[in-house]
Amino acid sequence: MGSTDPALPQVPAEERARQDMHVMALQGVIAGFFVAGELLGWFGDDSAASRAAVAWIAAYHILRVAYVVRRRATHRPIAAVEALIPLLDVSCVSSAWVILNDPGSPFWAVYLYALVGYARRMHGWEYARTAAFILANMGAAQGIVSWRHGEGFFTVDQATMLLIAATMASLAHKVGAGWREAERQARVQAETDPLTGLPNRRHFLAQLEQRAAGDFRYALLMMDIDDFKRLNDEHGHLHGDAVLERVARVLRANIREGDLLARYGGEEFVVAMPGADLEQALQVAERLRRAVERDTPSSVSIGCAVREPGESLDDVLRRADDLLLFAKRTGKNVVRWDGLRRSA
Ligand code: GH3
Ligand code: MG
Ligand code: MG
Repeated sequence: MGSTDPALPQVPAEERARQDMHVMALQGVIAGFFVAGELLGWFGDDSAASRAAVAWIAAYHILRVAYVVRRRATHRPIAAVEALIPLLDVSCVSSAWVILNDPGSPFWAVYLYALVGYARRMHGWEYARTAAFILANMGAAQGIVSWRHGEGFFTVDQATMLLIAATMASLAHKVGAGWREAERQARVQAETDPLTGLPNRRHFLAQLEQRAAGDFRYALLMMDIDDFKRLNDEHGHLHGDAVLERVARVLRANIREGDLLARYGGEEFVVAMPGADLEQALQVAERLRRAVERDTPSSVSIGCAVREPGESLDDVLRRADDLLLFAKRTGKNVVRWDGLRRSA
């Protein structure tokens, strides 16, 4: 098993919820078509195999809806179930073909659709296994149908279809790898500040929002470079850019693993420290302030706020920003926090 489960693509929660709704709606319509068709005798096939196939399609879709509802409520996917879903979906396709009971039906194109679809989010052995399962299902379903028509279990047509599908699977796998890489690059680009290579404000807020659920405690350090305008005016913008890069590097080298550092705005940076209390946060803030003063031609002022129970992310950001302003007004190149302001 790899470190990430390819059956669980890294998509944002709301996007995933939307995909869930679309997939469930579409599958519900398809499952409903086969169940209604069987009950109303549209397919003209009353065999036990056909009835078993309808029962399976209906039961699976009820269970699947129940699972997705549970996942949406708990936000906890079960990896084993997620890995089984593609295979069970394919088994429903085969069941549908058995119900249609037409060996020449263009139904097999649905397997090609599945082969291409899964190539988009699976790779390596995971995809090879799934593709093999899809091809085996396709062969078996076609075999059952043509055998019931007295054409034998394995026909030349079937071999041709399987060959086409296998070729398609290998092509889809190659194209899928390209898609995934392009998607990854686009995501990294959208999340990263090009000058410093740090996460940008949007990505930082999204990450913190994800972690800051419930009464999770964290500290925020809001930082702004002192007299940066003057530095730009005296030495030019390119020099200013170089200083920004330098400050980013120094900050990165001086935070702890697990803390989130981002470029918040023009010459503003922010650090979030999950789990930190005020004392720990102030220690880090003072270390960062000194490192910037020592290792760059500039300095930073820092506002330090620790989330209190019940506070929203916006509340904490606003408090850290206020404290940063307070730091600017009371000397610059300093760290300010709430207790100090109250006693000042
Ligand atoms: P203070 O100590 O009060 O923060 O003074 P300041 O001069 O730093 O004032 P302020 O924070 O308002 O100035 C921000 C300046 O940073 C203005 C803007 O031109 C400059 N700046 C913002 N982004 C960039 C950038 O990407 N590159 C460069 N070179 N300058 C930038
Ligand atoms: Mg500034
Ligand atoms: Mg500023």
